[in-house]
Amino acid sequence: MSQLPFIDLGAQRRRLGERVDEAILKVVNHGAYIMGPEVGELEEKLAEFCGASHAISCSSGTDALAMILMAKGVGPGDAVICPSFTFAATGEVVAWLGATPVFADCLPDTFNLDPESLRKAILKARELTLKPVGVIAVDLFGQPADYEAIEPICSDEGLWLLCDTAQGFGGTYKGRRTGSIGDIAATSFFPAKPLGCYGDGGAIFTDDGALAGIIRSIRNHGQGSDKYDNVRIGMNGRLDTIQAAVLLEKLEIFPDEIVARQLVAERYNEGLGNLVITPLVAEGCVSTWAQYTIRLSSSRRAAFADHLKEAGIPTAIYYPKPMHMQSAYRRFPIAQGGLPVCEKLAGEVISLPMHPYLDEETQDRIIDAARAALAAEAA
Ligand SMILES: *Cc1c(COP(=O)(O)O)cnc(C)c1O
Repeated sequence: MSQLPFIDLGAQRRRLGERVDEAILKVVNHGAYIMGPEVGELEEKLAEFCGASHAISCSSGTDALAMILMAKGVGPGDAVICPSFTFAATGEVVAWLGATPVFADCLPDTFNLDPESLRKAILKARELTLKPVGVIAVDLFGQPADYEAIEPICSDEGLWLLCDTAQGFGGTYKGRRTGSIGDIAATSFFPAKPLGCYGDGGAIFTDDGALAGIIRSIRNHGQGSDKYDNVRIGMNGRLDTIQAAVLLEKLEIFPDEIVARQLVAERYNEGLGNLVITPLVAEGCVSTWAQYTIRLSSSRRAAFADHLKEAGIPTAIYYPKPMHMQSAYRRFPIAQGGLPVCEKLAGEVISLPMHPYLDEETQDRIIDAARAALAAEAA
């Protein structure tokens, strides 16, 4: 049987037709490969799209997070609280700057940062005589984190809130678009993310003009107003003009794709809801469905994946190990009370093919195979 793609970027490319090719060729010909006009144009459109005052494009989602922490002056002795159930970049950047990531648990239904565990992680940091300075909340699998619970904790404790919306850009939380939530937000344009380019890319969003200025300087080696007098330690964190040109074309169809993703998720919920735990989207939230992730008891997951593989259907496990259980991160502290939910989820989650171009016929094939796999196990 034919093998289905997990994410069908080819279908999106066919829809876009010659537009992307022409946009790329235009950059190749005008020659402003670094910080060309498309970069500024993209930043304006991104800011407008999500309702943030400033959008700063950059080289990747990881660099977006790192440059934000650099701008905040994060360093040794500081603690930054983040969920353990996330892609490694979230906590990696904290450790990279010599600060201490303190890992918190997640909620079992939305997979996002558990506000109670966040409080316990802050206590843990203080107990270790570290200085809690900020929180990185993650919009995991496309769903915004529980900001109404997280924001008051941050303001009570005097912590900044950084939203890692690498998977959730384009989603909304009670009428607010991701990118406009928190003190500052970071996203990724890695090709497989809901809004992706044809290589690495990312962006930073904030309403804080002074902070935006510092990040623009960091993105270009800490440049000041005099090009040859670098006023701070920075890096090369720029987005290529070609990638900006690709993103300008993709941003045009992104709202439409977000709608299409909802329909795909709804059809999965209908087809599988009575057999497995399907993903919950909290009241008032719109997910971008970076992943459609179901839960199965850990003893059933491997057989389920094998059955689907035989039927030509790829699955993926995000994430088989929470960060605090990975070799490089085991030495970092975790919230008081431990992280039982994310440890359990790591054994149970499995993601199905998800993209805006999953037509009904193909999706029925996936749903039928999943139902057959579950029935075969039960027999
Ligand atoms: C993908 C991702 C990143 C990193 O983005 P890159 O562009 O790959 O560097 C950071 N955080 C989360 C939650 C991600 O999913």
